[in-house]
Amino acid sequence: MSSPLTRALLLALLAALIAWPVGHFFGAWVGWMLFSLSLAGQMLLHFRYFALLDRWSKAPVLDATLEGEGAWDGVFGRLYRHEKELQRLIAQREQEVAMLIAAGQALTDGVILLDEHNHILFCNTTAEQQLGLVARTDRGQPIINLVRQPEFVAYLEGHDFARPLTLRTERHEGTVLSIHVIPYSGSRRLMQVKDMTQSDRLDRMRRDFVANVSHELRTPLTVLAGFLETLQEIDPAADERHRYLDLMAEQSKRMQLIVQDLLTLSSIESAPPPENQPVDMVNLLDKLRRDAQALSAGRHTIIVESDGQGDLCGSASDLASAFGNLVANAVRYTPAGGSIRIVWQATPEGAEFAVHDSGIGIDAKHIPRLTERFYRVDRGRSRDVGGTGLGLAIVKHSLNRHQAQLEITSKPGAGSCFVARFPASRVVGL
Ligand code: ADP
Repeated sequence: MSSPLTRALLLALLAALIAWPVGHFFGAWVGWMLFSLSLAGQMLLHFRYFALLDRWSKAPVLDATLEGEGAWDGVFGRLYRHEKELQRLIAQREQEVAMLIAAGQALTDGVILLDEHNHILFCNTTAEQQLGLVARTDRGQPIINLVRQPEFVAYLEGHDFARPLTLRTERHEGTVLSIHVIPYSGSRRLMQVKDMTQSDRLDRMRRDFVANVSHELRTPLTVLAGFLETLQEIDPAADERHRYLDLMAEQSKRMQLIVQDLLTLSSIESAPPPENQPVDMVNLLDKLRRDAQALSAGRHTIIVESDGQGDLCGSASDLASAFGNLVANAVRYTPAGGSIRIVWQATPEGAEFAVHDSGIGIDAKHIPRLTERFYRVDRGRSRDVGGTGLGLAIVKHSLNRHQAQLEITSKPGAGSCFVARFPASRVVGL
């Protein structure tokens, strides 16, 4: 294929070859005129295609606008293919970037990309929520102008990112974030923000729990150790020794109860969902009445009311333990002469088990915390009646496992009512 220059020279030569004999026969000026006209025609053609190229290069489109003849056809063809490949690559890159952004948005951790001056290049939705940023308007802003907590600013400016920063945010009280900065691509930084609120709360609960258990066991252990030491050092009279041994037995019984309740709680927590066995409520109510009477030893009036409808389905032992705790509490926190009413009845939503007592009652401010482990309104009183502070925690867990809700209403000095509400899915034979 000839080059454009060779083609132009050949065309000029052809024009000269035609113009020469014409000039010879019709006069030189006619020959020159013909030659000049043919050159001008060629130039005009080139200018036309050049103008077309100029226009197209300002807004390249992939249609038939770029078409020419001769050498221009080859040039236009190559430009067209080049532009087409370029647009394909751009579309591919755009798709890849969009996929990366979508992946960044899908992360459950916050992700922020910062340039060397800590200006925001990108931040995902999670980071927006965690740190109160607005990606649309905050892109390009220095992050320390937007997150101004001094410990955060110090961490970012300290350049020591070996350990993550734990930040208790001022925006949402109680929210704990773990911020990890990872340098990349020279001086740029990727900031990963993890929400640690839940695990921080669990950590605190675990620490509190260990502290509480230690405290609960330390008291009886101290008493036991004290008596043992006394018995080792002195030889008390027989009745005194009996008194010591009774007190020691009382304390070891107390430790036994605590350990037993802790084991119950832990087995309820780790057990698989309760099996769906029908629990005969007539039998269970009868057993609860007998247990209450034994615990009360005739000091209370105990009434059981049932509409005789429906049985529960779930774990018989979990439910017996939950209801037993509620009934035992009613007996223990109701002074002699009081009454306890145990009610089982169908409701429009399912069924409910309630224990009403005319006992000491509970101040409203304690009610939301009663199901916390080791929470007692009056520690001394709970100890006197043989409480471990774990009963209602066990009740709450057992009921949760049966999708039931515990509702507590009480008035100091007038009595309390503990109601376990079961959904219809847990009741059979209605
Ligand atoms: P405890 O073993 O101390 O009874 P629980 O978890 O069973 O622990 O109950 C927590 C606290 O709730 C008790 O210490 C007591 O102060 C209060 N409480 C529970 N049931 C009653 C009730 N029927 N009447 C009054 N107070 C109650």
